Amino acid sequence: MSKVMIIGAGGVGRVVTYKCAMNPDVFSEIMLASRTKSKCDVIVADAKRDTGHTNMHTAAVDAENVPELVALLKEFQPELVIHVALPYQDLTIMDACLEAGVHYLDTANYEPKDEAKFEYSWQWAYQDRFKEAGLTAILGCGFDPGVTSIFTARAAKHHFDEMHYLDIVDCNAGDHGKAFATNFNPEINIREVTQKGRYYENGEWVETEPHEIGQMLSYPNIGPRKSYVIYHEELESLVKNYPTLKRARFWMTFGDEYLTHLRVIQNIGMAGIEPVKFKGIDIVPLEFLKAVLPDPGELGENYEGETSIGCRIKGIKDGKEKTYYIWNNCSHEAAYKETGAQGVSYTTGVPAMLGAKMLLTGKWSGAGVFNVEEFNPDPFLEELGAQGLSWQEEIGGDLEV
Ligand code: NDP
Repeated sequence: MSKVMIIGAGGVGRVVTYKCAMNPDVFSEIMLASRTKSKCDVIVADAKRDTGHTNMHTAAVDAENVPELVALLKEFQPELVIHVALPYQDLTIMDACLEAGVHYLDTANYEPKDEAKFEYSWQWAYQDRFKEAGLTAILGCGFDPGVTSIFTARAAKHHFDEMHYLDIVDCNAGDHGKAFATNFNPEINIREVTQKGRYYENGEWVETEPHEIGQMLSYPNIGPRKSYVIYHEELESLVKNYPTLKRARFWMTFGDEYLTHLRVIQNIGMAGIEPVKFKGIDIVPLEFLKAVLPDPGELGENYEGETSIGCRIKGIKDGKEKTYYIWNNCSHEAAYKETGAQGVSYTTGVPAMLGAKMLLTGKWSGAGVFNVEEFNPDPFLEELGAQGLSWQEEIGGDLEV
């Protein structure tokens, strides 16, 4: 029986709210807080109607304002904050959690607003403060990062003596019927996919041009899709926590149409994050673009098809070479039917709720700042299917990479 505060009333926040409400034995009292309270009210009213949970509240909060956050936390007194607003707010929410004595969980690493830079250093720097406070901070507990890191932890624990090659493969074979839309917050998504590619090899980071490395990869129940090496944040903690890795890469599928739109957006300067003057006011092009693109939270209704995300790993077990593939496929339609959100929000929100449940039920514990692969993967994966994201594994198959 615990109180939890969810921050961020977007697509992911909707799923986390639903999923917490569907586990009332653990999440007995829930508050959804975000910048716009009316968005929280809609989600909570829907979740109450569909799940029958009665003890749910909403509040307005600016998650970049630490005193405002601390006041709300002290008033509501949750055990844990599940932060699914934007990565810009990671540090202010961590500061507020420390001040109010509340555990912390997020799904994306901190990014400064003025620089598209993805690294854990800022959040890892909170290690001693969380340790001293006896509090837990769980970083990156969505799908990727999140489940992909827990899949890797399972491989290390049960399938390999040494892992050598890790390829995380992320395919969205869904069709939402729009000419161009992003599957989660457009600003964060476009910053992520337009940056240079980067992967880890033999102890070093190798940088590529955006989408320079691409090949067809075949996904279960979907078939072949063109996939590209991009940088993704979980690589940083995985190569640190699994030092036997000789190479670690992250692949994401992009359709030709999507890449053409992206190229045009970049070529005309609309992906820029430096403010430009327009009619006397400062406008950040990417923030303006977000305002005119479809809201990812609204894509669900006509979204068809599946996502398939997993880890393809090569290494050594009992002196012999071994290959291992572990993955989840998620249907956009099924996600929408259950929560009113599309598959990408669903695959992020379910693990965030389940990570919170692991902490609140004592299955994951410890004082300090943790990436999810540092916890025991078994209780999480035992329950992931029952919570909506079933997974499969294949041993000895052709990994294609
Ligand atoms: P949305 O843009 O749909 O939602 C973000 C929400 O945060 C909005 O409701 C917004 O409020 C709120 N918000 C923004 N700034 C503030 C603030 N200063 N104070 C309070 N609330 C604020 O994003 P998504 O739901 O698509 O994504 C949420 C998070 O999940 C992102 O951090 C994203 O990076 C992460 N993510 C992680 C994935 C993973 O697998 N690990 C995959 C996909 C997403 P308002 O509407 O009022 O502006």
